[in-house]
Amino acid sequence: MSNRTFTMIKPDATEKGYTGAILEKINAAGFRIAAIKMLHLSAEKAGEFYAVHKERPFYGELVEFMSRGPITAAILEKENAVEDFRKLIGATNPAQAAEGTIRKLYAASVGENAIHGSDSDENARIEGDFFFSKLEQF
Ligand code: GDP
Repeated sequence: MSNRTFTMIKPDATEKGYTGAILEKINAAGFRIAAIKMLHLSAEKAGEFYAVHKERPFYGELVEFMSRGPITAAILEKENAVEDFRKLIGATNPAQAAEGTIRKLYAASVGENAIHGSDSDENARIEGDFFFSKLEQF
């Protein structure tokens, strides 16, 4: 089992000034930051990242949203990172997210849901490598 996951603080949370508070929660939950950067995805790059959702009805909306403004991308390390981080962020739809989770606290809707967390060890590695070269992963 890998001990790393990948996250993005999405444009809605950046716009609302939640980046610092979210990083603090991640830190308090025991994750070590192994890589981090703030950047603005082009629509092309956002579409590439979410290519797995290409056939879904919300794909266009998702690409537009994710390329609307800056995000913070990071690789996080902790034992059982993927599963524990999914628990920390909560359900995709913030209305269904557990109390105290990042999406419950900071997300507005199922589309604009503040934060991404990888859903498997394999995707964590693929997604981390999408944003960070080997020289940028510590
Ligand atoms: P996640 O793994 O919890 O992020 O959820 P999914 O992999 O199912 O979806 C990826 C992302 O697509 C979500 O985090 C949302 O930003 C977006 N998304 C999912 N469902 C919907 C939807 O019904 N409408 C819109 N607009 N966006 C959605």
